[in-house]
Amino acid sequence: MSYRSSTRIGANRGYGLMLVALLVVLVPSICLVWFMNRAVQNERAAVRQKLFEAYRGNLALAQDRLETRLRAWVADLEASPATLAPSALFAREVTSGRADAIILLEATGNLLYPGPARVERPPHSEEWTAAETIELTDPARAADAFARLARGDDPTLAARASQAQARCLLHDNRKDAAHAVLADLSQNERFRDITDLQGRLIAANATLMLLESLPGVDSSEGSMLLDRLAGQIDYSNAAMPASQRRFLLREFCKHRPNDPHAALLAAEDLATAFLENSSSHPTRSEPVFRPAQQTDVWQFCSENGLAITLHRSSRLADRLEQWLSPENLPADLSLHVKPPGSEPGKFFASIGAGPVLPGWQLGLSFKEQRPFVAAAGQGVGSYVWIGTLVLVTVGVLAALMLHLVRRQLTLNQLRTDLVANVSHELKTPLSSMRLLVETLLDAETLEGSTAREYLQLISNENQRLSRLIDNFLTFSRIERNKYQFTFQPVEAATVIAAASEAVRERFNVPGCRFEVQPPPPRAEFIGDADAVVTALVNLLDNAWKYSGDDKLISLGAAAQNGSIVFSVRDNGAGIPARDLNRIFKRFYQVDRRLSRSGSGCGLGLSIVQFVMQAHKGKVEVESQPGTGSLFKLSVPATKSHEG
Ligand code: ADP
Repeated sequence: MSYRSSTRIGANRGYGLMLVALLVVLVPSICLVWFMNRAVQNERAAVRQKLFEAYRGNLALAQDRLETRLRAWVADLEASPATLAPSALFAREVTSGRADAIILLEATGNLLYPGPARVERPPHSEEWTAAETIELTDPARAADAFARLARGDDPTLAARASQAQARCLLHDNRKDAAHAVLADLSQNERFRDITDLQGRLIAANATLMLLESLPGVDSSEGSMLLDRLAGQIDYSNAAMPASQRRFLLREFCKHRPNDPHAALLAAEDLATAFLENSSSHPTRSEPVFRPAQQTDVWQFCSENGLAITLHRSSRLADRLEQWLSPENLPADLSLHVKPPGSEPGKFFASIGAGPVLPGWQLGLSFKEQRPFVAAAGQGVGSYVWIGTLVLVTVGVLAALMLHLVRRQLTLNQLRTDLVANVSHELKTPLSSMRLLVETLLDAETLEGSTAREYLQLISNENQRLSRLIDNFLTFSRIERNKYQFTFQPVEAATVIAAASEAVRERFNVPGCRFEVQPPPPRAEFIGDADAVVTALVNLLDNAWKYSGDDKLISLGAAAQNGSIVFSVRDNGAGIPARDLNRIFKRFYQVDRRLSRSGSGCGLGLSIVQFVMQAHKGKVEVESQPGTGSLFKLSVPATKSHEG
């Protein structure tokens, strides 16, 4: 079937075209998006550069200020050891927030703070040795012996003996007596700076023992003891060794975790961890911030090499930022200090933080991103607009091109189909006529009636040829948009008369009954009478072609619901339901063999539909295979009497 094969070829071409159109749109679109992206990046970089130029001065100022502040801090640090106890200096730097911990060294390089406890040799009095000997076997007597020693004048001996006495009393299960001794040790000013044999302050240890003997610390006594312990931890008391202070701080913070002492405990822990982690004894180094062995910890050695401060990265950054109190800085900007390796953040301009902080960065950012976005956005916006415009234009042009090319292809296809069909369909009537003419010419004598009969047949073939050519021409005009309608008021009766007249002679043969039902009087519509007649004649032709030997064909017109409905009914072959929608497509034929016998090339119904569309009307078909078909053409009526 020529119709179907050409459809498939057309579909394949359609897909190919779509692919080309897609590529035509896609390739430049991708390139454009890439260019736009690069342009946007360049625009942002340019804006960044401009902003950097504008604020370079502020950054340089901040760098100077940072340098000055650091120098002042180092000078302060170096001036301090002479006036302050090392532990007090430790506490001052930590509580002021200038360092997270500090290691203090002697000029000889030995550890000053947090240093080891000073262990003292035990006393060797005979009485002491005797009391010690019986401590495990006879704690009661040992307690008495130590009590006697505690009454001596030497406060060190007295404190240590009292401590031993309390221990023996506890061993002997005399808790109250032991507590009384511990209470005296804990608060007696005389014993304030006395250390035990391991160098630990006896008074503070006694306070802790009293605290531990309580069932809980929520009582007023517990609270009082905790306050006292806090006082004894006091960093100005140089007598307390760092290890004991750290231990007491930990115990204290168990009960008061939110106390400011927690920061000191963290500092002691940091300093101890630093000393434990250091592969060698801390020594003097360049006065610059360098990473310590612990992760995220920085160390800084003062110029005189007597103090090494320790800083956690984030806290150091915060601290340095506080020092950069940004004068002359626009209110919408903020200045930041970032350690090496950290995210560059949203800086639009940055410089190194100076030689003391190698690798650190000073950066400026907007408090809100908006100004930067707005500055960059101005340029970016125009790129986006231009890009979108180009994309839309490319898309529209591609769609237009696709449309035009498809149209051209369809026309070419139609032309090919038309030529093929025309030549094929013209052959049949021409061959018939040639045969008839040759028969006439070959006859030796021509009888009048036979000659008339042959001439009648030739005339029929001629008419058939004319109808075919008419249809081809009409179709060709339609396809080239050259078909001209002349609309004017038309009476339905005129159309019915013209259509029936056109076929009457042909239908007036034995085996064909042709009925015409006249339309109601004064049924009128606006239309092209010739075109509607052509449509009806096409339907009548089909009724003739697709009916058998006993034909019953009727033509009629009626006024219904504001329309004039022309109808052509036959009792022919009928049309299968699945073909009812397709028969209006050009070149479509349900059964080519059947069509061949009657001649036709699948254009008749497409012409009928075209005529109806031009009249804002419609074509309907009802058909039963084997029973017959009814075609109805409806056009809007101007005047009608329903009937
Ligand atoms: P054709 O020139 O082949 O008649 P048409 O467009 O007029 O082309 O009709 C398309 C097809 O519809 C025909 O080939 C035929 O198969 C079917 N058809 C049209 N009218 C009738 C009818 N009255 N009875 C049966 N089949 C019909």
